[in-house]
Amino acid sequence: MKKSLFYILVFALFSGALTAQQKASVQKAAAKKNYTVVIDAGHGGHDPGALGKLTQEKTLNLEVATRLSQLIQLNYPDVKVVLTRKTDVFLTLQQRADIVNRNQADLFICIHTNSAENRSVTGTETFVLGVDKMQSNLDVAMRENAVMLLEDDYKTNYEGFDPSSVDSYIMFELMQDQYFDKSLNFATLVQQEFTSIGRSDRGVRQAGFWVLHKSACPSVLVEMGFISNANEEKYLASEKGKSEITSSIYNAFVTHKAAYDKRNGIVSRTVEKVTAKQLEQKADSAAQEKLSVKAEQKKTDAKKGVEPKQETKPADKPAAEAKPADKPAAETKPAEKSADKPAAVLPVYRVQIFTTTAPVKPGDATFKGLKNCKYTKVGKFYKYTYGEDTDYQTIADIQSELRAKFKDCFIVAFLGDKQITVKEAREITK
Ligand SMILES: [Zn+2]
Repeated sequence: MKKSLFYILVFALFSGALTAQQKASVQKAAAKKNYTVVIDAGHGGHDPGALGKLTQEKTLNLEVATRLSQLIQLNYPDVKVVLTRKTDVFLTLQQRADIVNRNQADLFICIHTNSAENRSVTGTETFVLGVDKMQSNLDVAMRENAVMLLEDDYKTNYEGFDPSSVDSYIMFELMQDQYFDKSLNFATLVQQEFTSIGRSDRGVRQAGFWVLHKSACPSVLVEMGFISNANEEKYLASEKGKSEITSSIYNAFVTHKAAYDKRNGIVSRTVEKVTAKQLEQKADSAAQEKLSVKAEQKKTDAKKGVEPKQETKPADKPAAEAKPADKPAAETKPAEKSADKPAAVLPVYRVQIFTTTAPVKPGDATFKGLKNCKYTKVGKFYKYTYGEDTDYQTIADIQSELRAKFKDCFIVAFLGDKQITVKEAREITK
């Protein structure tokens, strides 16, 4: 049976006996599915990324990634757009790369926000996988790879790679990246678009990012700007900023995709670029629409005599694509908020016990037996705290006890997510 099938196939091949229809179906089977782009909002969940004064990196990344995916979907019905996360959830770097590979993506865009100790630094840079001797590039890669340390078994999960050791990065020198040219092409387009709208251009750079390394397609990592610079943070958080960044990356995609279609003999309609203004106007009208719907709803409710509905928060669940093993470390889990303690209204006090440049694993000896410690990330630093209370004296008592173990520990205060001085906090509680 097998033998006869073989002969038929051989005969078919050599005699040119495949009909046009058969040929077409063979080609169809071999042809790839539609063009797929995976958009990755860096960080999420118990990994906030870089911290600003107003906001956190994970939030900015998600806002731009979401806008970008909507814009591509709207204008390219034939393109499959996959977001690695749609909500505020934690994903490992490997899970992000898995999503790219499972979807056989044609392009992978990682969205991140930069941070530097020097608060005057501003501008955009787009990374491709590679090596570069520049310390500043290595610093960015180290910071973005450091999220691995939040996983219990990162040495096994990442093949012995240590994100905080310079030696680990030598592997990227020995490696050939077959997607380098296409990645570089897209990265260059992104920076050109940023430059055309007057953003400060820090150029296309190379560094060893694990998430790019493990993704089998052209991949870039966009650092949208510096959250550590007060003005740039305001810009990144503004509607204007988000629209400008989204339109820049989108316009780069338009050019990149047109070139892809041309190379592959795909006849496609011309897709126009957008301006940030258009996006901003759209966002405005969408917001207005939402408001008017709400107002209408209120009116109807009032007529019906119904209680106004509570705003429901979106459920904290990952995108359908993402299957995160979200195991927030005990140390990073936000404390349960009791109903009678609205966090945003009353400041809370905590004891800061130490600061590190990389996250510390739960149960690590560094905690000296303390459980449920939390950290806030400021620039490169992870500031670990213990205890939380709205009553200053309670925390002061904890601090004096902790001095036996952490002699330099001190009290810090937060209003919501924002750190404020103890003096400011005491003024509010007075
Ligand atoms: Zn980042």
